[in-house]
Amino acid sequence: MPRIPINIQEGKIQEESKASEIIVGIDLGTTNSLIAFVKDGQPNILKEHGKSGLVPSIIHFNDNGEVVVGNEAKEKLSTYPERTIYSAKRLMGKSIHDLENYVDGLGYTIIGDEKDEKLLKVKVDDKFYNPITLSSKILSALKIKAEALLDQKVTKAVITVPAYFNDTQRQATRQAGKLAGLDILRIINEPTAASLAYGNGIDLDVVENIAVYDLGGGTFDISILHIERGIFEVLSTHGDTFLGGDDIDIAIANYWIETYSIDTLAFSDLKYLAEAAKIHLSTNSIFKSQVNDIEITLDLKQFETLCNPIVQKTLQSCQQALNDSKLDKSAINKIIMVGGSTRIPLIKNAVANFFENDVYDAINPDEVVALGAAIQADILAGNRKDILLLDVTPLSLGIETVGGLMDTIIPRNSKVPIGAGRNYTTSIDGQTNLKVSIYQGERDLVKDNRKLGELLLKNIPPMPAGIPKIEIKFMLDPDGIMTVSAEELRTQTKTSITLQSQYGVSEEEMAIMLLDSINNAEADMQSRSLQEAKTEAVMIIQSSHKFIKQNQSWLSELEINTLKDYLKLIENFLKEEDKDAILQGLENLNTFSRPLAEKALDKAVEQNLSGKSIL
Ligand code: AMP
Repeated sequence: MPRIPINIQEGKIQEESKASEIIVGIDLGTTNSLIAFVKDGQPNILKEHGKSGLVPSIIHFNDNGEVVVGNEAKEKLSTYPERTIYSAKRLMGKSIHDLENYVDGLGYTIIGDEKDEKLLKVKVDDKFYNPITLSSKILSALKIKAEALLDQKVTKAVITVPAYFNDTQRQATRQAGKLAGLDILRIINEPTAASLAYGNGIDLDVVENIAVYDLGGGTFDISILHIERGIFEVLSTHGDTFLGGDDIDIAIANYWIETYSIDTLAFSDLKYLAEAAKIHLSTNSIFKSQVNDIEITLDLKQFETLCNPIVQKTLQSCQQALNDSKLDKSAINKIIMVGGSTRIPLIKNAVANFFENDVYDAINPDEVVALGAAIQADILAGNRKDILLLDVTPLSLGIETVGGLMDTIIPRNSKVPIGAGRNYTTSIDGQTNLKVSIYQGERDLVKDNRKLGELLLKNIPPMPAGIPKIEIKFMLDPDGIMTVSAEELRTQTKTSITLQSQYGVSEEEMAIMLLDSINNAEADMQSRSLQEAKTEAVMIIQSSHKFIKQNQSWLSELEINTLKDYLKLIENFLKEEDKDAILQGLENLNTFSRPLAEKALDKAVEQNLSGKSIL
């Protein structure tokens, strides 16, 4: 249905209330995860004496369906690749469509319905696990570890996410926490957390602009911050949730396959070997190994050639973040390196060259994010009053308008929390429902952005087209998670709305998952998507009949009959409960009716303009 944007209003909402008990900071990483907590004012990584605090973000399901996480799971990676899930974070909030080139060679099976964007599951034996469930397994393991080492219950946490995570991915992270029995008090961006760890204890008189370059296993983020009198203000952020050390490993493995025609080793094993080569080459000039009877090598020069495209992509993001911050390179005082991949000398040098400054890597890049999360947890616990964090939203938020265009309501790099609204109106006389599709992203056409959900405003009092004044408000909380509200302002009717997350899990689904098994059979998935298709079809049939009735004065007989034929077809498919046919029928109807809907809009506008102006 067409919609007309009219004006913008902005306002602010307040920070949430403080908590008082021990709150841990969790870095839920693609490759490794870790927990930190503040003791005597200082952030510490939670670890057993003499051991690393890193918990590999790997989940193994054994024959009996039991789950192990961490080092124990990592040991199973090469022997049971199909039951051992790594990089689950890369799957968070994604559809099968997003993963096109990624699913091959993973070792485990990802399934999804090509036609249904919402479904993405990992299949182990006859069970299906969604990425939220998988991440919750890691968080559960971290919780248990923290409780054992701290000798007390841990129920509250601050968790970090890549700055470039969208709303769906943030919601998925929060849901994973909930499933693990953790109340996620705040989600903060990884580079922002790193800057907190770096800035902990620095002189309050210091005024600095810093760049945090964060290249981990699966994601890349760059943030530019301004620090002054304890206020950490994020000026801009950019990145890629599908770029990291993993890509270097894949590039090396592919290079070996091409060079040595290796076809006897599973890709996951070769990738494992590639990671070893990468780490070796961070301090050595050549890597050699044996695959079956073939000697394979990788020298530093070739390694750097393979890394280069990935490094260049990160530098493009750096430039974009600098542009958005409106600062010149020369205004950046410090460059902080975060993430395991920044151990590669080529990367350190490339970043130093780009910013024309030395890079700062004094804090262990594996630990710096979790340490920052612990500081934020300490702030929320009410123990720190000297630091204030002002973060931004990485991606623009808006709705679809006529012609599939993106109408941005909250632009990217807006400070959070924030509320912003816009007024819309109806396009058809007597229209009582308004369906709004919500998107996140920077492209002009919504089809190139991420759909977050739909908002259905019901029970608008019947009025001529263009007369209702419907305010749609977006509220972004400090975690970067959005809620939406709507009100028809002329009649002050606050009407019910539903915002359904496209890729996440609804509250009802969460309850079911919490109660019984977290495994959904394929049949369940099919029936859910059939149900959704049916609901949509019923709604569209109703509104189409209304459309015909309201516009019969100018619709031709052929147009009316064709519309009715399409509707009859869909009704038949509904009876047959054929999901694919229903969706195809709806698409055909949409293709045919879109020009008619636009014509109806033009007519409504014409009518309104003759005699009165639109609002
Ligand atoms: P993170 O997501 O921050 O834990 O980073 C994990 C990534 O860092 C993985 O791709 C690792 O292979 C990579 N990594 C860890 N240590 C090194 C190293 N010494 N040299 C190169 N890459 C490393």
